[in-house]
Amino acid sequence: MVSVQEQLTLIPLFYIDKQHFETDLICNLPNLNPLLNVHSMNKTKTTLLCLGLAFITFSCGKEIEDIGLATSSTLQATSTANLSTSDLVPLKSMEGLIPVHENLRSALMSDLVSPSECGPTAFAAVQSKYFNALAVNLVGLLGPQAQDIYDNYMNLGLIAAAYDESAQYFGANGEYTNLMVKRQRELEKFWNMPNQIRVNGQHTATLNNRERLADLYVLANGLTRDQAYVIADQLLAINTFSDQLPESPFFAADGFATTFRNLIVIGDGLVEMISEAGIEQDIVWTGILAHEWAHQIQFKNMNAWYPQGTFASLPESTRYTELEADFLAAYYMTHKRGATYNSKRVAQFYELFFEIGDCGFEEDSHHGTPKQRMAAAELGFKLAADAQKQGHILTVEQAHAYFVANNTGLLAKK
Ligand SMILES: [Zn+2]
Repeated sequence: MVSVQEQLTLIPLFYIDKQHFETDLICNLPNLNPLLNVHSMNKTKTTLLCLGLAFITFSCGKEIEDIGLATSSTLQATSTANLSTSDLVPLKSMEGLIPVHENLRSALMSDLVSPSECGPTAFAAVQSKYFNALAVNLVGLLGPQAQDIYDNYMNLGLIAAAYDESAQYFGANGEYTNLMVKRQRELEKFWNMPNQIRVNGQHTATLNNRERLADLYVLANGLTRDQAYVIADQLLAINTFSDQLPESPFFAADGFATTFRNLIVIGDGLVEMISEAGIEQDIVWTGILAHEWAHQIQFKNMNAWYPQGTFASLPESTRYTELEADFLAAYYMTHKRGATYNSKRVAQFYELFFEIGDCGFEEDSHHGTPKQRMAAAELGFKLAADAQKQGHILTVEQAHAYFVANNTGLLAKK
């Protein structure tokens, strides 16, 4: 019988490449290193803070430092005595298998460690509430290994959602499953795309599921089931020490469309965090689904709609396709035979969604400014209102042609 330690030394360590998606994904995983550096530089300093303070919101480095130390002195002693996380094997990167042109998660995670003026205030409060709790817990519990463990959980969550072939549920307790099933049927009918798109939910509970975790290590790292269980059990052990692993909404914050299996992934945490900034969950689920579905329409028509040479640069291409996705989504969301939302309600969601998106991507022009995106959405509202009078739904080709003919004013907006 090979011991756990011996088994682990047999397994090569694979480090996760944070930039492992296609070129225009700007994957802004928050970097915990500033916290870790602060922590390690001051490790001899004693602290009077107690564990309960871990949940106090902090906004500056000084407070992070104190709280980090507080939790480290209490928690880390416990955890390291029971568990050697240095032996944890990261899930192997599945580089190139899941091309993601845009992951909404990156927008949720911008400006986390150094807060900026960017983004809607209500959302910044939600974002820092969850991030502070997560960072304090991880740094306190895992010290210098917080970043690696965090990255591994992110990767596990993404690969789990991407490869999930089971019956899906949406919302942590399935509370949005009916809505999402209804929306998928509607979108299939609306855009005449029967059985073409798969939509997977993403849930933090997956990261506390021994069988699912083992599945991932068998899949990605090529381990035997028994080897994979050893690692799964380590992860479950870490989870018992932490109230953030895997419960933090950041571990179910993916939102993307990919040509891999014609898949859309929407995480419970992504929807929850956007919704907590003041928009009802039903419209957030629908809005994200409609936007990602529009990208699937574009993927299917890529060669016909955007033959090589259509755009001068990648940012131009991204901006154009994002604006068109906003337009197509707005058209479906307000159409009488689509999701039938009132356009004012959709506009409220978009206002938040576009402002968040504006912070999540590095170049100002990358996705269009919030004003350009709202103008694209308004074009969709108008088309839906006009179409309603005529009582029909445009085909994807007609909708695309309409956007091409009518988008010229959008980019002029600043
Ligand atoms: Zn998009």
